[in-house]
Amino acid sequence: MPDLQTDIRYIKGIGEVRAKALSKLGIAYLGDLVTYFPRAYDDRRQFSAIKGLIPGETVSVRAIVANEPRLQIIRRGLDLLKFHAVDETGRLDITYFNQGYRKDQIKQGESYVFYGKVGGTLLAPAMQNPVMEQEADAGRLTGRIVPIYRLTQGVSQTILLNAMTQGLIACGEVFPDPLPEAVREAHGLAQTRFSYHNIHFPESEESLELARRRLIFEELFLLATSLHFIRGRRSETTGRIVPPVDLEPFYEALPFTLTGAQKRAINEALVDMAGERPMSRLVQGDVGSGKTVVAAACAWAAFRAGFQSAFMAPTEILAEQHQQTLSALLEPLGMRVGLLTGSMTAKKKREVGDLIETGCYHLVVGTHALISQGVRYRDLALVITDEQHRFGVDQRSALKEKGDRPHMMVMSATPIPRTLALILYGDLDISVIDELPPGRQTIETYAVDEDKRQRIFNFTRKLLDEGRQVYYVCPAIEADPEDTSGGMKAVEAYAKDLQENIFPDRTVAFLHGKLKAKDKEKIMAAFVRGETDILVSTTVIEVGVDVPNAALMVIENAEHFGLSQLHQLRGRVGRGGHQSYCVLFSSNQAESVRARLAIMCKTGDGFVIAEEDLRLRGPGDFFGSRQHGLPEMGLASFAYNMDVLKEAQEAAMKVLAEDPRLEDAAHQALRARIAELFEIGGEGWH
Ligand code: ADP
Ligand code: MG
Repeated sequence: MPDLQTDIRYIKGIGEVRAKALSKLGIAYLGDLVTYFPRAYDDRRQFSAIKGLIPGETVSVRAIVANEPRLQIIRRGLDLLKFHAVDETGRLDITYFNQGYRKDQIKQGESYVFYGKVGGTLLAPAMQNPVMEQEADAGRLTGRIVPIYRLTQGVSQTILLNAMTQGLIACGEVFPDPLPEAVREAHGLAQTRFSYHNIHFPESEESLELARRRLIFEELFLLATSLHFIRGRRSETTGRIVPPVDLEPFYEALPFTLTGAQKRAINEALVDMAGERPMSRLVQGDVGSGKTVVAAACAWAAFRAGFQSAFMAPTEILAEQHQQTLSALLEPLGMRVGLLTGSMTAKKKREVGDLIETGCYHLVVGTHALISQGVRYRDLALVITDEQHRFGVDQRSALKEKGDRPHMMVMSATPIPRTLALILYGDLDISVIDELPPGRQTIETYAVDEDKRQRIFNFTRKLLDEGRQVYYVCPAIEADPEDTSGGMKAVEAYAKDLQENIFPDRTVAFLHGKLKAKDKEKIMAAFVRGETDILVSTTVIEVGVDVPNAALMVIENAEHFGLSQLHQLRGRVGRGGHQSYCVLFSSNQAESVRARLAIMCKTGDGFVIAEEDLRLRGPGDFFGSRQHGLPEMGLASFAYNMDVLKEAQEAAMKVLAEDPRLEDAAHQALRARIAELFEIGGEGWH
């Protein structure tokens, strides 16, 4: 008996060559095949009489071929097969381009179904390259809802349709069902067998909807259950209750007034920290929304209660900047703010380690050096991680281990649509800072191609003459020796080119992740002080770094960056009082690339950008395994639906509340599926 693990070559018509082509679509086993969902559907159910066909509409027509098809060879590589078909009401002219092989298949006097877009005129309708089937065995490609699959070289719709038909039959009744029966019933979800058949070959729109709903629910339910199961539930109590404090002294020490959203986030966190359960809160806010001061307020509250806090940043540069910002803010209030980074000498690290262990530092800012073996805290009550998406779940929990079940605050500048945050951070409470400090300007953004290069250089010069500074961002550090087109800009070579050939009278510096920490620090510091005019960099400047005098961000090969990343990069300018600009260079003319870059030009709102990214590319990016170690999403990445998401999330929580270790017999299929998903993803699931 074939099952989901059966090799795809089991299917008639799939040999070595096609199996190889299918593997490019990730299809090796029957299980891969039946979960290869259509990207769209074609509703070919509507039949029309020939008379009254309206040019432009797409329909199925039953008709008899009225003459012998004629093959005309126009020139090499272009031939036409022409004939006409009739029904009781009229005549339809049909032409096939470069499909001469059909000449022998199409028989005068026989009845066929043609499906295609009507051309010609109202009185003389025509079709070009219609889908056709003999009427006697029609019903596979016409007269029904037909699935449309994403294809690859060597795999046509027809091949997939055939394979799918056979694959579904071969799998018969054995689709495993990870959804507990009780969940399926409580949420009115269809059975697996029905769902797989109807997602590929829907009997009706209603059946398709039932199938989709079930399969999307299943995916999201699995994801939600997995994450909560893996991360463990928050049932422990904290050893570090931070009683409510009066924030007035802190507010008074600030050089600005907080926005309402900032105050809300601070209050939400302080309420958590005063509770018995350790806080687990995500603070989401666009670049520049002022998350740092929210963290500072919480660290101050912890300090007032006699506790230590730690603040972890993803890069050394960022850790150093945060340390400076936070000590400027907090030292006047009596706090000592230390810094610990990986590049410090062993001696220095020991010194800092002592100051941490004795409690001399009330707040330690650092990179992941903060969680290294040797570091011991005296009284760690609050752990803040900045730009969370750069850290794995593991690193976060390692820092958590350092204290007596401390409170956790995670800050992210990657706006994630609420729908997704609900699942991705299902175990976190969320504060959204959806308000920017007053007076923020919009950054004028332009998407351009090579022919504007000279103008952009001129514009750069103009801004430099006005005393501003400029960023150029490249996707690569070194030139790729494979890339002979020279299309991809690499930091070092490009900086040299700018310095020597374009701006010989200006100072150009470059920065990337492979430089020594000391050098990076020097380069960044020089740029902050305004000693460098142009900084050519990789995305290491993406997060957090603050240079108010920088007014232009030029991004090379912009198509290489995700929308959210572009948005982050753009957030590096417009941080002072100067009108700022962002230029996105791309010579990629693909429509999808143009569409994405156009969004950047249209809006500066990170949440809107995230929503658009989600719409254009699906949540693959957010669910991307690179960032989260999560399995790839299937259907749910094409269509997501807030209601299903909420329901799936609630169902997952309910199952885990009743059976936290998934030991119940009814949950074994679910447990097995979770194990499978996370092992396939290359990660242990404990
Ligand atoms: P984020 O980390 O959210 O990108 P930051 O915390 O770095 O943003 O804040 C960006 C800038 O805005 C900093 O220079 C900060 O001092 C300033 N800032 C923060 N909150 C306010 C506010 N309420 N009013 C004015 N400026 C603010
Ligand atoms: Mg920040």
